[in-house]
Amino acid sequence: MIIFDKIEYLEEPLKGMIQEYLELACEMDRLLNCLTREYCAQCPRSLEYGCCNFPEEASRSMPEAIVRLQEMESVENGGDLVSRNGLCRFHTKKGCSLVLLKSPSCFGQLCDDLRNDLRKRFGRNAEPFIEAMRKFGRKSMEKEPSELLEGMRDVIRAGKALEDIKKSN
Ligand code: SF4
Ligand code: SF4
Repeated sequence: MIIFDKIEYLEEPLKGMIQEYLELACEMDRLLNCLTREYCAQCPRSLEYGCCNFPEEASRSMPEAIVRLQEMESVENGGDLVSRNGLCRFHTKKGCSLVLLKSPSCFGQLCDDLRNDLRKRFGRNAEPFIEAMRKFGRKSMEKEPSELLEGMRDVIRAGKALEDIKKSN
């Protein structure tokens, strides 16, 4: 991925923070796929235009250097950074063109249907994951980087617990 090469040019402490963010984001993305992909795949709103449209959230609380990296990641994934019909400029026909560099407020989104599905499948065990996602989604990379990374670790801990339950069923 191009963005892994580009962060070499960032200065510390931003560089170290982004490296850690990317590592945690890889694991979060894997867990979200494991826990939500099947449900989203059958959701009519996942078709063609994706289901999200939060242009003002797409880069919120991200330092300017990271917004440039978001643009590179988007282009690498087939985006053209053009906003159509009022949709977020990172939208493509396949959905969001950001994977690892989604802003926390986009990454942390669990729609009502997904939350209900997680509760149906995991009962009360779903709550720590839902709550960790909610808290992480409110963090700012710009203002509170260490809390943001801790929030990601909380999401991963809670997500792994659900993954273990899923594997044991
Ligand atoms: S996030 Fe929600 S609205 Fe979007 S595809 Fe998944 S279930 Fe559907
Ligand atoms: S960045 Fe991605 S997840 Fe966020 S609003 Fe844009 S398309 Fe949706």
